Amino acid sequence: MPSFPSYRPRRLRRTDSLRRLVRETQLGAAQLVQPLFVRSGRGVRQPVGSMPGVCQTSVDEMVRDARQAERLGMGGVLLFGIPDVKDAVGSSGWDDHGPVQEAVRALKRETPNLVVITDVCMCEYTDHGHCGVLKDGDVDNDATLEVLAKEALSHARAGADVIAPSDMMDGRVSTIREALDGAGFANTPILSYAAKFASGCYGPFREAAESTPQQGDRRGYQMDSANIEEAMREVRMDIEEGADMIMVKPAGPYLDVIQRVKQETGYPVAAYQVSGEYAMIKAAAERRWIDGERVMMESLIGIRRAGADIVITYFAAEAARLMAQTTGAAG
Ligand SMILES: [Zn+2]
Repeated sequence: MPSFPSYRPRRLRRTDSLRRLVRETQLGAAQLVQPLFVRSGRGVRQPVGSMPGVCQTSVDEMVRDARQAERLGMGGVLLFGIPDVKDAVGSSGWDDHGPVQEAVRALKRETPNLVVITDVCMCEYTDHGHCGVLKDGDVDNDATLEVLAKEALSHARAGADVIAPSDMMDGRVSTIREALDGAGFANTPILSYAAKFASGCYGPFREAAESTPQQGDRRGYQMDSANIEEAMREVRMDIEEGADMIMVKPAGPYLDVIQRVKQETGYPVAAYQVSGEYAMIKAAAERRWIDGERVMMESLIGIRRAGADIVITYFAAEAARLMAQTTGAAG
């Protein structure tokens, strides 16, 4: 490699057009997925305090957000449900007329170009707020698998394009794959939250999804932040069980995990930039301590550069709008 002064890296950084020409990583609206929180009712649009710009909405309002996402060319949406009633086993999670199921049907009718992904977990539906069925105060893995399969099937019946289990129970991918195949949904893909870390960055989400555990925490099933070899075992296990796509969550503090999963598996990788990552940027921008738009784009391109094909982010609509403006495209 030539060295200074024959090689001057600054030559290619001189103008915006030169920088654009040699840019190594691209970010487009098609790679962005917007999480949406849906509840029952009509005309409901309830802001989430710790996530400026994010709302819980009823299905009719959610369709408006989804239409905008479709116009902006976004890849898809990820649905979370807030049920009217919660119980110990989360039975509203497999109600064929629950908020998520109704939302899926409405979206497949109104926004056919958006990929509709549904989060499959119990914490939104259990009165104790844990991601599964409790036994002696701990989440019972195998009993939880049964209810997860019921929930996944209910989403598939409603027409979900992709099923995304986020509970971190052992064996959930094979259990859900088997249930889907057995009911005629062999073509419904599974996006597995394979490496989901127990993170301090989920706080604002729990307000949005009303899923804070009543006691204890989720360290008994979500992964320890320090472990990348264990993350790779989880990923390989989920691929063997039939996962079609792999998710790493959160994104920003785990870019090395994203990179290794992509390099070692070659599978489509989704990274979830979670509520706390979003809230930190929003809060600092509100105080004018950082340039919010610039840090937003930097955080998203960083996740792509690490190797994520898909970025799930609360910034999806804002980033897609900004990209449409700067490229002069419609939207
Ligand atoms: Zn959960």
